[in-house]
Amino acid sequence: MTDAPTKTLSLEEVKALAKSVLVSAGLDAHSSEVIADLVRMSERDGPRSHGLRLLPVYAQYLSSGYANPKAAPSIRRIAPGVLRGDGDNGFYQVAALAARAELIEMARENGIAAFTCANCHHLGALRFDTGPLAEAGLVALGVVNSLSMVVPQGGVRPVFGTNPMSFACPRPGSEPIVWDQASSMVALMDIKMAAAEGHDLPRAGGLDTDGQPSTDPNAILETRSLLPFGEHKGAAIAFLIEVLGAALAGGTLSVDNQERESFEALNIKGGTTLIAIDPSRFGNPAFNDYIARICAEIEGNGAARVPGDGRLKNRAATQVNGVSVAPDLLAQLQAL
Ligand code: NDP
Repeated sequence: MTDAPTKTLSLEEVKALAKSVLVSAGLDAHSSEVIADLVRMSERDGPRSHGLRLLPVYAQYLSSGYANPKAAPSIRRIAPGVLRGDGDNGFYQVAALAARAELIEMARENGIAAFTCANCHHLGALRFDTGPLAEAGLVALGVVNSLSMVVPQGGVRPVFGTNPMSFACPRPGSEPIVWDQASSMVALMDIKMAAAEGHDLPRAGGLDTDGQPSTDPNAILETRSLLPFGEHKGAAIAFLIEVLGAALAGGTLSVDNQERESFEALNIKGGTTLIAIDPSRFGNPAFNDYIARICAEIEGNGAARVPGDGRLKNRAATQVNGVSVAPDLLAQLQAL
C-alpha cells in the first residue's frame, strides 16, 4: 500500500480502462465489452472486490493460456426446461448473455427453466446473473462452485469452494430484490483485497497456521482454509452448490485443482446453474402482494434492510461521485 492519493474515475472511465486491459490481454472484442461492462457494474453497485481488482486475474488467465480468448460458447435446449451451455473455455458471463433471452422464454413457457453451463470461467459476482431475470419479471436462483477453500464443519481440510449463490425477484413499483453471498464467512476476493489494502477483516473469516479463527487476511491466505458462514448450515449450503453447480453442469469439482494450479490461476472452471421461475405461472395471483408485504415488514424495522438493497445506495452514490481507485491498483492496470 502507498500513501499516494486515490484517483477518482467515472463509471464510464472504469469501463474504458477495463476494456483496454482485456483487449490488450488478447480477449476478443465482444467478450471484452461484456466483461468490461460487468466490471463497471461491480464498481457501481458493489462488490468492488469483483470489479477492477479482478482485471489482473482475467489478464493472467489469458496470458497463461488457461482461458480461451476467442471462445464461441454453444447453447442447446436439451429438455423442455433445460438449457445447456458449453463455454468453449471462455468466460461464463459471455455464454450466460447468449443464453438469457431463451432462458426467459423457456421459463415463461414452462413456469420454470434452468441454464446450466460448464467449460467456462466464472470470476464475477452472481448478482449480475440473477438480476436481469428479475428485471424480466422472473424469480431467479443462481449458483457456481469455486476452488476448494472452505472447510466442512469439523473437518481439517477444505472441500468446498467459497461457492456463492444469488437470489433475485421482482419488487412491485421498484428495483428488483437481488442478493448474493459466498458460502464462506468472507469471500476470497475480500480477503485478498484486505491483504492488498493492509487491514484486518471485520470478523474472523478463516484459520491461521495454529488452526485458530483469525481476522488476519495474510494468515488466512497462508492456510487457504476459510470458515463457512453459519457453521454447519453454511457448509450444507456449500454442499448444495457443489451439487447444483459442479455436478449438474459437469463443471470441475472444487477439490479438483490440478488444472488451475498448472496454469497458476486463481479459480477452477466450476459449474454454474441458473434457475428461472415465472411467478405468474405458479397459480398465486397475489405473488406481488406477498413480496410487498415481506419488504414492508423489514423496512422501518429497526436498522434492518431488504437483503441486497445496499447496492442501490452504492449505485446512487457512484453514479454521481464516480469511484476512487487505489494508486497501486491503477498503476498495475495501466501497466497491463
Ligand atoms: P456480503 O457478505 O458482502 O453480502 C452478502 C449479501 O448480503 C449481499 O447481497 C449484500 O448486499 C447483502 N447484505 C450485506 N449486509 C446486509 C445487511 N446488513 N442487511 C441486508 N443485506 C445485507 O457478500 P459475500 O462476501 O458473501 O460475497 C461477495 C461477492 O463475492 C458476491 O457478489 C458473490 O457472488 C461473489 N463471489 C463470487 C465467487 C465466484 O467464484 N464467482 C466466489 C465467491 C463469492 P448489499 O450489501 O448490496 O445490500
